[in-house]
Amino acid sequence: MPSSKHSDPENGSAANTRKLKRELEQAAYAYGRPEAAGKKAAKKTAKPELERLFQSPEAKAVKEEICRVGWKLWQRSYVDGNGGNISCRIGQNAVICTPTLLSKIDLKPEDLCLVDLEGNQLAGDLPRTSEVFLHLEIYKNVPQAKGVVHCHPPHATAYAITGRVPPTAIIPEFDVFVGSVALSPYETPGTRKFAETVLPFVRNHNTILLGNHGIVCWADTPTHAEWYAENLETYCWTLLVSRQLAVPYAKIPFSKQQDLLAIKRRLGLPDARFDMKEGELSSMAEPPGAIALAPPGASGIAKPSLPSLQDDAVQKISKAVADAVIAALKRG
Ligand SMILES: [Zn+2]
Repeated sequence: MPSSKHSDPENGSAANTRKLKRELEQAAYAYGRPEAAGKKAAKKTAKPELERLFQSPEAKAVKEEICRVGWKLWQRSYVDGNGGNISCRIGQNAVICTPTLLSKIDLKPEDLCLVDLEGNQLAGDLPRTSEVFLHLEIYKNVPQAKGVVHCHPPHATAYAITGRVPPTAIIPEFDVFVGSVALSPYETPGTRKFAETVLPFVRNHNTILLGNHGIVCWADTPTHAEWYAENLETYCWTLLVSRQLAVPYAKIPFSKQQDLLAIKRRLGLPDARFDMKEGELSSMAEPPGAIALAPPGASGIAKPSLPSLQDDAVQKISKAVADAVIAALKRG
């Protein structure tokens, strides 16, 4: 049954804004989804049972949760412009997701869309996000995933655009809730190819850095997926701030890392390190990204090729300078 909002005639400034948004959609303004052009509002052709599902109290609660998550993402500067998207799987073949071209702080429950696992829009007035395929690949491959958040938090994205992953075994809470982070290769956003870049990682990682783009997190709810985005962003921020102290990170001892993995296993959270043997795990404690982000002079950093102080030539120069200074002092 249509909601009162849907059956009301559109008028006033809110209606004008909405009309403008639709016109933008029809012009296929957003990258990645030219098929949005000319597509009629899905709601007008939605099947009654789908419309009932979409307007059910359960779906209403999910829509409100997604709006709260959008508000948090915007407040924390994890999304910019119309960037970022949020979804929640509410059935075997039904996912509620955010629409395209809308700032996450402006999200209202009636703006959300219902899609199937192939990305076909089943209900909702606004066209769904062009990046829904990323979410759908996660739902199809990870049955326990019920909420997905994609955003662009600056510190985590700094890692993603430099092709680095943060090290593990530095802060226990991060290791338990997120831990090892994967880095997927760059692809054009909004395409199916882009969505598939996470497939090699998504079963063992609830949080993935998207090369030259941002991050994606999955969890049992959209709220928890947003928590993981907070965990990763704060962690990356802390690591970057720690570089100003110009000393290496203090690592959690190997035996204590096992305690954290045991807690994580009990919580039912994924981690690529579970099935690793001791040698593999200890070598993973210093992944390439971790070394690259360690302070200058820490082990593993490629030092600039300046001459060593032991070099004869440098010693000769030093002696010549010292002799000249002493001679000058004697003359004075
Ligand atoms: Zn994005």
